[in-house]
Amino acid sequence: MKSSYDEIAKTPIEYLKGVGPDKGRLLREELSIAVFEDLLMYFPFRYVDRTGFYQISDIPNAPGEIQIVGKLISLQMLVGKNRRRRLVGRFSDGKQSVEVVWFKSVAALEKLLQLNTPYVLFGKPQNYQGVWSFAHPELEPHTPDTAGQFGAFYPVYSSTEKLTARGLNGRAIGKLVKALLPKFSGTIVDNLPPDYVEKYRFVTREEALFGLHFPANEAMMRRARFRLVFEEFFFVQLGMVRQKLINKSKIKGNIIEHVGPVFKRFYDHVLPFPLTGAQKRVVREIRRDMGSGAQMNRLLQGDVGSGKTIVALLSMLLALDNGLQACLMAPTEILARQHFIGLSELLEPLGVPIAILTGSTSAPERRRILAGLQTAEIPFVVGTHALLEDRVQFAALGLAVIDEQHRFGVAQRSRLWAKNPIPPHILVMTATPIPRTLAMSLYGDLDVSVIDELPPGRKPITTKHYFENKRLAIYGFMKDQIALGRQIYVVFPLIKESEKQDYQDLISGFESICRAFPEPHYQVSVVHGQLPPDVKDQEMQAFVEGKTHIMVATTVIEVGVNVPNASVMVIESAERFGLSQLHQLRGRVGRGAEQSYCILMTGYKLGKEARTRMKTMEETNDGFRISEVDLALRGPGEMTGTRQSGVVQFKVADLVKDGAILSAARAAAIEILRVDPRLEMPQHIATRDFFITHYAEKHSWSRIS
Ligand code: ADP
Ligand code: MG
Repeated sequence: MKSSYDEIAKTPIEYLKGVGPDKGRLLREELSIAVFEDLLMYFPFRYVDRTGFYQISDIPNAPGEIQIVGKLISLQMLVGKNRRRRLVGRFSDGKQSVEVVWFKSVAALEKLLQLNTPYVLFGKPQNYQGVWSFAHPELEPHTPDTAGQFGAFYPVYSSTEKLTARGLNGRAIGKLVKALLPKFSGTIVDNLPPDYVEKYRFVTREEALFGLHFPANEAMMRRARFRLVFEEFFFVQLGMVRQKLINKSKIKGNIIEHVGPVFKRFYDHVLPFPLTGAQKRVVREIRRDMGSGAQMNRLLQGDVGSGKTIVALLSMLLALDNGLQACLMAPTEILARQHFIGLSELLEPLGVPIAILTGSTSAPERRRILAGLQTAEIPFVVGTHALLEDRVQFAALGLAVIDEQHRFGVAQRSRLWAKNPIPPHILVMTATPIPRTLAMSLYGDLDVSVIDELPPGRKPITTKHYFENKRLAIYGFMKDQIALGRQIYVVFPLIKESEKQDYQDLISGFESICRAFPEPHYQVSVVHGQLPPDVKDQEMQAFVEGKTHIMVATTVIEVGVNVPNASVMVIESAERFGLSQLHQLRGRVGRGAEQSYCILMTGYKLGKEARTRMKTMEETNDGFRISEVDLALRGPGEMTGTRQSGVVQFKVADLVKDGAILSAARAAAIEILRVDPRLEMPQHIATRDFFITHYAEKHSWSRIS
């Protein structure tokens, strides 16, 4: 009897012919390939297409690796200045010729290669002033015997140095896969509902898995990939959508539907400006959620300065009017403090108390606050992670607002739930706009609101990139701005790995600014992590109150700080910042009615990616556009904060390129769960089984049954 898929899948890798205990251990350590299934899922990272031949005249503009049939018409050993030899020749397809050149093994090659004999040339051409040139091409004799082997589409597998040293290079891994696949033949069952297989004309799962390893041609590879990408997205979305449905149907929320006197008084008499259309829409969405009887889990996205705080406050007032408390959690002490100051001012005319609880709250103050929260004498509290501690207990927590979500993980979010018999509504606010695809895979269990409109009267910030040689001119510009009554930020990077050097850079930068902007005419503040908290506060406060002209700082000012009079942001060593961070920093200016400027200072030597970052900053102020570029440049794993928050790692799918497939997979998951929430129908059993065996640890399905 043939073994089942599971038996084969779980067979330890050392039992595969050609592996054995030693290589087995290495495969486990180096590539996490422990069982047959892991190797089955270890896909090539690219393919070599040798299915067709090119004419030299048809080589496309930006070619990949290509092959040409032809003959060497000349070959010559040249000696360079440093006495290094190179072998140079011309290769002709009968009509035109290209240059070929080798720098290594030249003596052997010179002996081996024959003029005027048919060869297949294979390599990646480069164009030097109109002439195609191949460095280190492969040349293989083209005879009737060998003709067949050039017709293939080869997978290329990655390996590691250690594995290669032990004889397992990429090619050898390919051979192992080739030996492995027949064992799975006939055992791989379908895991997608038949309706969708038909709708998207998917190849079978077996064809897809085998076809991604050894496709006959590029078209087959694409069809295999299409199915596997869809699968990956589909199962992750199945878990997230399921979670969302559970939240909505099972998790009761406090009903907050009543718009009461405090909210009205605030709206009519305290609110310092009319809400933008987007703000109004989002407040309506939040009201609808909180009044529905189910727990709200909503993500509020809005670019820096789009006015999320007031939306949070209005939501908190709704909770208050319905007899419930609210908390607002921020990722840093400084940001929590800023929120506290801002909200206190707005709440003062209403006589509504608010407290702040952070790691540095004194013991007596803490006792007072904890007691006040327990009796509900304190309706609102702002804080840091300190709010998550178990000893923080509320009489009736109705709403938890989390600012700058990307720094909090999903697990932390859920700790807030435990604070009440009925879990609070959750409003997560993020100022880092996240591309839609990433949002779907990170926050697929949340509803999303977007503030896509800035408050009126904002002028777009002018952004310019400069090198060191313009520093004097920039100091001059800063002086002009100060003469106009404006204030200026100068920000230095602070990165853990180079912290010591970074502090030195900051201090010497601070000193040169003090020399260029001498007292008593100019006042300069400095804020960084090595200052005692009270000094930091004083310096910050002096700048907020307009007593100092320039604030020299590390990235502590990245989030939240609000000084509308500041009109210039100078970012030093800007090449060391990621795009979303640069955009965050820039968001510190442009908050008043004045024209604002962002100046990016970099060293002369810039990599290609850094240049793209500077150019993108110069070209656009649109946070969503910037996040798309960021995602494309760095990939989802590298984007700010996503690593900690556990962004799903995909084997085949690519969040940058496969957005459309993700949307289709999500739609499918929603459709299926709508008609069959427990996946009990016969056509969904295979899907359910696959989910439980492959995804259950990530998304608990246990609540389903
Ligand atoms: P963010 O979304 O970055 O948290 P904030 O909530 O800090 O933005 O708001 C930025 C600034 O815009 C604040 O000074 C705030 O008072 C102001 N603001 C917010 N909404 C409006 C509005 N509708 N009209 C005018 N100014 C507004
Ligand atoms: Mg904010």
